[in-house]
Amino acid sequence: MDTNTEIQKKAPSIIEQFENMLSKQTAEEGQVIIHCIHHPCFAGCLVSHHCSICVDGNIILIPNIGEANATLLYAENILLQPASNPKTELISKFTLVFSALPKNCKTFSFVEPCARGWELHNIKRNSTDVYTISITKSSLKVVL
Ligand SMILES: [Zn+2]
Repeated sequence: MDTNTEIQKKAPSIIEQFENMLSKQTAEEGQVIIHCIHHPCFAGCLVSHHCSICVDGNIILIPNIGEANATLLYAENILLQPASNPKTELISKFTLVFSALPKNCKTFSFVEPCARGWELHNIKRNSTDVYTISITKSSLKVVL
């Protein structure tokens, strides 16, 4: 067997190393990561008009067991209000990172506390605390 192939097999890729690091961080600090996939409002989006995305920094995760809410620690690929984010692509992706949920919380809500804010209830807790949410004009749902 050729030596280079051997080395490639044994050495984890940069991406694998990064993912390991991220999952360790999540486990240690208990942060909750919400990847958001924001869809176009309708077929003419970005053609006949230009949408923008607004995110209230007071967005929270509410545990079903009535303990302290998880608060937003930082946002990646999106600016928080009062800034708005003009949509440049039909599918916009950004990530919200929240403080830890209580250990024994089994389901939680994702709530943006403002008029016409995003709301998604009964999100089933998973072991990684990494979730992907699809956002359309009319609904939100967990896709991963
Ligand atoms: Zn639009």
